[in-house]
Amino acid sequence: MKPAPFEYHAPSSASHALELLARHGADARILAGGQSLVPLLNFRLSAPAVIVDLNRTADLAYIKEEGGSLRIGAMTRQRAIEFSALVRSRLPLLAEATRWVGHLPTRTRGTIGGSLAHSDPAAEYPAVVAALDGEIAIRNSGGERVVRAADFFVGFMSTALRPGEMLTEVRLTPPPPDSGWAFEEFSRRRGDFAIVGIAAVVAMERNRCRMARLAVCGAAPCAMRLRGAEEILEAGRIEERSVHNAATRAAELVDPPSDLHASSDYRRHLTRVLTRRALNRALARACRPEAVDA
Ligand code: FAD
Repeated sequence: MKPAPFEYHAPSSASHALELLARHGADARILAGGQSLVPLLNFRLSAPAVIVDLNRTADLAYIKEEGGSLRIGAMTRQRAIEFSALVRSRLPLLAEATRWVGHLPTRTRGTIGGSLAHSDPAAEYPAVVAALDGEIAIRNSGGERVVRAADFFVGFMSTALRPGEMLTEVRLTPPPPDSGWAFEEFSRRRGDFAIVGIAAVVAMERNRCRMARLAVCGAAPCAMRLRGAEEILEAGRIEERSVHNAATRAAELVDPPSDLHASSDYRRHLTRVLTRRALNRALARACRPEAVDA
């Protein structure tokens, strides 16, 4: 199949892209790595009148630390994130989850901005950004607004982005030094979308959990924080019982779909199992970092 005809623009800067998006509004679709959009165009599941290709913009691909948070440009390739020493040292959860995103060739083209804007329910990056309580910078020709991850992913492949807007940057604050993290996933084959994935971050103070963040992908219409499970962990001392109760609660909080890949019950079961595995690895990293990653 081939895409329906469209007007093509390849701006060389974010500001020129924004001008084009303002001019064409809802008729325009942004092209980033093309790893999701191009199949949609080829199957004519999407037929925009105008394509604004960001691949020649030089000012949207970067990874930098500023004001205590890591700032990642929308056009930063997943492969750049995978191999970034700064991401590995400051946001190891993002580095670990990236290895689950597609395959080496798709990561070479695919971008973090595209993954978040596409907001596939089974995508890893939205769950990681939700677990890190990230912020997403969005621009249009009139200026910039910043949206918390919890308010950005609004439903099945739906985000807070409006016509004429462009996701420009992701802002992620590294967890505190005494924290642990883990990303667990079950997919049919390595590189497939998650059947279920769990992102976990915990911060400890002696044997108490000061902060817990859990987010799921694959078991809800979009990336979802599992706050009821987090509260169980933050309620007191961490022991086997509280991890078990949090994992059980996580499975109760999701209402997963059934499809040809897995039944709703199986996804619920995976949510419980993967939450327990992710929490045990995150807690071990928080309490005995040298033991886990040796
Ligand atoms: P594109 O495909 O170019 O765009 C995706 C959507 O986002 C489009 O609607 C586009 O208009 C919009 N968009 C892009 N950039 C912006 C922006 N800056 N502002 C506003 N809107 C924007 N993904 C996973 O998460 N996990 C997987 O396991 C996985 N497996 C894959 C396996 C294969 C074989 C393939 C082909 C893809 C797979 N993907 C997977 C998808 C891949 O990761 C894509 O990179 C990602 O979903 C979209 O990123 P992209 O840069 O390619 O965006």
